[in-house]
Amino acid sequence: MTLRSGREFLAIPGPTTVPDEVLAAMHRPAIDVYGDELIGMTDTCLAGLGRIFRTEGAVYIYPANGHGGWEAALTNCCSRGDKVLIVNSGMFAEAWGEMAQVLGIEVEVLEAPPRRAVDPQALLERLRADRAGELKAILAVQIDTAAGVVNDVPAMARAVEAAGHRALLMVDVVASLGCMPFEMDAWGVDVAVGGSQKGLMSPPGLAFIAASERARAVHRGADLVTRYWDWTFREGDEHYQKYCGTAPEHMLFGLRRALELILEEGMENVFRRHALLADATRAAVAQWAEGGAVEFNVLEASERANSLTTVRFNGFDARELSAFCRDHCGVVLGYGIGGGGMGERAMRIAHMGHVNAPTMLGTLGVIETGLVALGIPQGSRSGVAAAAATLGEALAPARPRSMAAAG
Ligand SMILES: *Cc1c(COP(=O)(O)O)cnc(C)c1O
Repeated sequence: MTLRSGREFLAIPGPTTVPDEVLAAMHRPAIDVYGDELIGMTDTCLAGLGRIFRTEGAVYIYPANGHGGWEAALTNCCSRGDKVLIVNSGMFAEAWGEMAQVLGIEVEVLEAPPRRAVDPQALLERLRADRAGELKAILAVQIDTAAGVVNDVPAMARAVEAAGHRALLMVDVVASLGCMPFEMDAWGVDVAVGGSQKGLMSPPGLAFIAASERARAVHRGADLVTRYWDWTFREGDEHYQKYCGTAPEHMLFGLRRALELILEEGMENVFRRHALLADATRAAVAQWAEGGAVEFNVLEASERANSLTTVRFNGFDARELSAFCRDHCGVVLGYGIGGGGMGERAMRIAHMGHVNAPTMLGTLGVIETGLVALGIPQGSRSGVAAAAATLGEALAPARPRSMAAAG
């Protein structure tokens, strides 16, 4: 017996659920690549992305995934033999660093403490020690999607400033853009890398880069620049140069609609929705953890991300629970990634993008169903009840004082 027929729910940390409005916007014929309609759509998407990155600086759209965005950032700003510092709190900064190495960039890694965010003080000290200014860029990730950890980007930016260091601050916001605040200009980030398929609720296939004035100045002297990623070429007079070839038209139809949905809801509301659904998820996990078999991967509560929660299992194979949720209940959860046995030890619950109370309470309900079915200890009270209580308290309408007093 299964309960999976009907619409499956994808609760993996990317790609995420694409809203029906976005799917519908894509279901149409291609258009003239030389026409005004396409030019207008590019302008609308670039303007919308600027509002989401919170930057007045340049934005570039690449037909590529997040890895393409990483390569775009590196090749546009670095030269062979440059040294960059990876601040690593999971798997993603590390993979970005490997890409740098392949390009002929020297890589140094500053590790976060185990299961913690990057320590901005450690970054400050490392930068202060670099008196010769050997480090040309710092590569950081706002939300690491393996660990489920959120790094304090403004604190990292303040560390760069306090050290008086000239390195460019490059931040991967693939799993945080559109999920939590990111302030490119106000924080002083030089290069930000985003992707379409996570918080931005679009299908996988587009990478976005925002670049500061300073990053573009460094770019003009970089020797790793290649034609496809080249910012200067993409700023040329011909519209086709914006994509270095045919525009990914259907992706743009979808993106334009997704950006509209986000901006109509309002960025503050979008962030608050993510924070509340993350709180509800964490309330459930904390309750399950009382059974002793389940725990948060991220040790420090304030460092748990608002776009996904990575959960560890002690003495149970997380893949069995994920398989149960998928095969019996139609909810697809993320496997653990990042080495160290995380594949069998961990599960990742996404609360990212097009998520709301029914999808998240449903997801948590299915996980709890799986805990019961597989006999995984989960404490004496219900995690789902804890999640509902969290949401109920947060959403309670403000009542006039006299009524509240009357009970
Ligand atoms: C998903 C993700 C990426 C990589 O995106 P791909 O599209 O798979 O290349 C990069 N960084 C972070 C933090 C991510 O979550």
